[in-house]
Amino acid sequence: MAPADQTRKTASWDSGKATSGDSSTAASGVSDDIASRLLSWYDVHHRELPWRITPIEHARGVRPDPYRIWLSEVMLQQTTVEAVKAYFKVFVEKWPDVEALAAAPTEDVMKAWAGLGYYSRARNLKACADLVAARGGRFPDTETGLRELPGIGAYTSAAITAIAFDRPAAVVDGNVERVISRLFSITTPLSEAKPEIRAHVERMVPGTRPGDFAQAMMDLGATICTPRRPRCMLCPLREDCSAVVSGDPEHFPVRLPKADKPQRHGAAFVAVRADGAILLRKRAEKGLLGGMTEVPTTGWTARIDGATTEAAAPFPADWRHAGRIAHVFTHFALELEVFHAHIKGDAADGHFWSLAHEISGEALPTVMKKAIEAAIPGATKSRRHTVQRGPMTEIRHIVFDIGRVLIHYDPNIPFSRLIPDAEERKWFFDNVCTHDWNIEQDRGRTWEEAEALLIADHPDHAENIRGFRRHWHEMVPHAYDDSVAIMVGLIESGHDVTMLTNFASDTLAEARERFDFLNRPRGVTISGEIGMIKPDRGIYDHHIAAFGLEPAATLFIDDSQKNVDGAKAAGWQSVLFTDAKALQADLERHGIAT
Ligand code: SF4
Repeated sequence: MAPADQTRKTASWDSGKATSGDSSTAASGVSDDIASRLLSWYDVHHRELPWRITPIEHARGVRPDPYRIWLSEVMLQQTTVEAVKAYFKVFVEKWPDVEALAAAPTEDVMKAWAGLGYYSRARNLKACADLVAARGGRFPDTETGLRELPGIGAYTSAAITAIAFDRPAAVVDGNVERVISRLFSITTPLSEAKPEIRAHVERMVPGTRPGDFAQAMMDLGATICTPRRPRCMLCPLREDCSAVVSGDPEHFPVRLPKADKPQRHGAAFVAVRADGAILLRKRAEKGLLGGMTEVPTTGWTARIDGATTEAAAPFPADWRHAGRIAHVFTHFALELEVFHAHIKGDAADGHFWSLAHEISGEALPTVMKKAIEAAIPGATKSRRHTVQRGPMTEIRHIVFDIGRVLIHYDPNIPFSRLIPDAEERKWFFDNVCTHDWNIEQDRGRTWEEAEALLIADHPDHAENIRGFRRHWHEMVPHAYDDSVAIMVGLIESGHDVTMLTNFASDTLAEARERFDFLNRPRGVTISGEIGMIKPDRGIYDHHIAAFGLEPAATLFIDDSQKNVDGAKAAGWQSVLFTDAKALQADLERHGIAT
């Protein structure tokens, strides 16, 4: 039998290894093949993102709104999809079209952008909106025309051209770089390989559906050809991929060792008035965090340290050290000593007071939010809660007991697809769910062993139980953007979110690497104890005590019907998690906008 790698049709044609016939014809044939396989995969597995239209809508003649595509692409520069979703929602609600954004005060746009980082993007966004609105509100539909607008570079112009206008353009983001580097086993370091990567993409872009092709490449990189542990078994391009033949796709893209970032130091001063107002000032328009709001800080920059003691405070007060915060910018890492004082009197020149209920709406960059939070925990959380009073008690705490769901389960594949029959699904949640697997795993059993036990207990449902494990294993760990986005959205809008999980420490480390929100100083609490206490069902009382929760004002979200019932019995409001869309509807039913 021939070794597997000899039987595969790999992308090595492009490395000059095509041996018969006209190589350009062969190349174009393989490219067409790749595009068509990718589009077929995308038709089924595309991510649903709020700025997108689906392939079905596209086939029906629906076209995306260039304003939404432009807005999302600018937001996505340097930011993850999870982080962008919540901001995108706020922007399109406030400013549904480019004229509305152009008419908005810059200050309001900066405030809405606060927390998304890379603030020059927000200034360029506004300048671009102004220009497009002044030209009649239509975005140019070519890369050249788009590149003349503020804040639109090579990548963004290509993305808008392809996605918004369905015109052929080589869209190459980090995901696409990774996929191409692997498909063609590019050994040149990534920083130098970009022209080669672009040339490959240019050859692959199909004449029809170039917009969907661009999005399919991005989705493949985001969900299958991931930086670590690519899911080659599920990949539609597996047969074309030379890296998978090598057995070490993670080796690509090849990167040069990173230079260490310089470490800078400084101090931040959080002055508070008796009514809780915090003293703020605006940064200079130009430069790092230009135009954003800050608490007084010492003069650190990317190149120089600032003073780090209370002696550098902008005015005398009883300054107390409140801790140290760390923040990493693109070119340097910063540590700020935070000082806190209660003061009386007027704001000094160039400073202003922001009342407690206004703080969350200020244009505070993340580093400044961290400084304020170090001094006054919870101060930057929204007081304008999205919770509405209704027939139910107002929800003040949200507890997710779906840690494993977030890590292992793809909400784009809802339980209703894993277990299509509604009766069976109900039975599954009532009797098996993942909870029982978790318990058996906590007892040191493998999934297979747990499955055998479950089948022994429920022989009539053996097929369903086997099918569930098979699906679970085939799909893990996959895209769970929607559920993560819901959690992040809740945290961003100031909800007190606790995430309960029995992650093993290595899984947790991986999760922390993948999801920024797990590293936030506040907003997410991770309980490592739950796995141990779950079987004795002391979970509810334990968490009420451990996290200071008020049962009636707590919404408990779990993927186990048994746990949901237990929480209800303990007086919690509870929701059964089945998929991201259903969760969103349930949250809204409880008066919580997501
Ligand atoms: S086969 Fe694997 S390495 Fe190759 S493109 Fe697909 S996911 Fe990436």
